[in-house]
Amino acid sequence: MHTFEYVRATDTREVVQLLADDPAAACLAGGTTQLDMMKDGVLEPPTLIDITRLPLHGIERRGEILHVGALVTMEELAADATVAERLPMVRESLLQGASVQLRNMATIGGNLLQRTRCRYFRDPTVSACNKRTPDSGCAAVEGVARMHAVLGASERCIALHASDLAVALVALDAAVHVQGPSHSRTVPLTEFYLTAAESPQRENVLEHAELITEVEIPLPPAAARSGYLKVRDRTSYEFALTSAAVLLVVDHATIRQARVGLGGVGTKPWRAYEAEHVLTGAPATTATFLDAADATMRDAWTVPGTAFKVPLARRTLVRELQNVSGVDV
Ligand code: FAD
Ligand code: SF4
Repeated sequence: MHTFEYVRATDTREVVQLLADDPAAACLAGGTTQLDMMKDGVLEPPTLIDITRLPLHGIERRGEILHVGALVTMEELAADATVAERLPMVRESLLQGASVQLRNMATIGGNLLQRTRCRYFRDPTVSACNKRTPDSGCAAVEGVARMHAVLGASERCIALHASDLAVALVALDAAVHVQGPSHSRTVPLTEFYLTAAESPQRENVLEHAELITEVEIPLPPAAARSGYLKVRDRTSYEFALTSAAVLLVVDHATIRQARVGLGGVGTKPWRAYEAEHVLTGAPATTATFLDAADATMRDAWTVPGTAFKVPLARRTLVRELQNVSGVDV
């Protein structure tokens, strides 16, 4: 790993000013993505600002909104009583991610900002990677692409956004609070991420000198049922091949409200509006669920390595709609 200056900060405004003063500096939270990529030689920031001492560790319920500090760990959020009671799909998405050791280090802010696992992106000896080097090509399109995306993908880049938590949070209309040097703003997660087809190099709308300080999660109606299904090559310590976060309010066998997020398939955590449109107001039946899954995957862009994901994602979504609704299980 290259040498770098280590700075420990205790004040949020100090961090954003340090970032504003140094366009190449980077933040260190749990370090489970950042340090990996520095060891691989993909990132070489001259300065690393340790933000773990910032006062962003709280979880607080205010009315029907849960406020989660960016430095809360994945394990802490999964163990929260409100999450267990009202946000089962958040809890399930967290507990099915990484390992318990990683979840004790990894923060919520870092999870949302984790970088793609594309093996070509993470190998600086591969020259063709539009995400690392603009207009250099994409080695994955004709390479090994099993863990890549089919929604929001194009020949420019098929890198997957691998966060499980973000899939649940986009379905729940969560938002991030962002602090900059002279401003703060709140960005809905559905508007936070960019697809690789839009911009392989830029994955979200966060500016260099902005910090995520908090995630705001609206609590769903008490009548809602929800869950997160993750399909993967082995049942622990593995990223999703496909996943589905589903929230339904069903009344007299009719779907009154539907929220759907998909993972393992998108270049960003995917909100499946097409599926929600099909589901809302329709009878809660497997026929409806199949129509919803078809609508979602209609615009998939595949390469030979990722083609299997289209039928797998359809089945994953249908199964989770069945699980959550209790229909045809
Ligand atoms: P860091 O590595 O410290 O930071 C990540 C990035 O975010 C860096 O660019 C950093 O500068 C930036 N950053 C961090 N916090 C902030 C902030 N508050 N504001 C602005 N920028 C910030 N994830 C899953 O969802 N599912 C899995 O199954 C899964 N499996 C994994 C398996 C392994 C072996 C590993 C190593 C990781 C896995 N992960 C998985 C990813 C893991 O969840 C992330 O690495 C972790 O959540 C990142 O959090 P962190 O605090 O360690 O972030
Ligand atoms: Fe790079 Fe994206 Fe292609 Fe991976 S998929 S090699 S990140 S351009």
